Amino acid sequence: MDLSQYVKSISHAANTILEGMAVTFSHLFREPITVQYPDKLDRPMSELLPARYRGFLEVQMDICTGCKRCEKSCPIDCIAIDLVKDPVAKKQTMGRFDIDMGKCMYCGLCVEACKHESTGAIRHTREFEAASASLDHLTFRFIPEGTLVPLYKAPKDLSEVPVGQYGPHAREARERAMRDNPARLKELRTFWAAERAAKIDATPEAKPAKT
Ligand code: SF4
Ligand code: SF4
Repeated sequence: MDLSQYVKSISHAANTILEGMAVTFSHLFREPITVQYPDKLDRPMSELLPARYRGFLEVQMDICTGCKRCEKSCPIDCIAIDLVKDPVAKKQTMGRFDIDMGKCMYCGLCVEACKHESTGAIRHTREFEAASASLDHLTFRFIPEGTLVPLYKAPKDLSEVPVGQYGPHAREARERAMRDNPARLKELRTFWAAERAAKIDATPEAKPAKT
């Protein structure tokens, strides 16, 4: 290689490095397209999701008849319901209602079965944050261990079935699943409290009136 070729190669390498650095530095002055999740969002994430988003399942136990239609309709056996006879009241009760959200494919078949043939006690929430150290923490337990829940007797006119608040049942069930991981549970509670506070701040009546 003669000297002129040698100098040409060095100059080419230097130009290439400078071009690359120019592209890199130009990003320092551009508006970022991505956002830091979740602390840079101006609204709770659940409000930014599409209207028909299917998140964690929840069961409103006070309107669950224990009919097991949801359990039977699940193609991959995520739902486990145990019916137990209360020895004192001599009545059928529920001793377990677990949903394995780690296995669930969010198909919604259980929700459809309950909505069309029963009381609509099971439904999807808009919650989705499931990162956890153990798959066991994703088995949501809607009945606390050792408790027997009476079966709901649905009225003939199903439009009279009360509809509860959307979301807290899944949170409670998840808390029960995570009782052996207090550190993660504390983090989740802090996150839920912040999310609730953000929702209260966003309601029109929470804003100071204009004078
Ligand atoms: S009422 Fe709904 S949630 Fe309860 S067992 Fe029947 S189908 Fe499942
Ligand atoms: S959403 Fe589908 S997979 Fe999940 S529990 Fe219901 S029926 Fe089973």
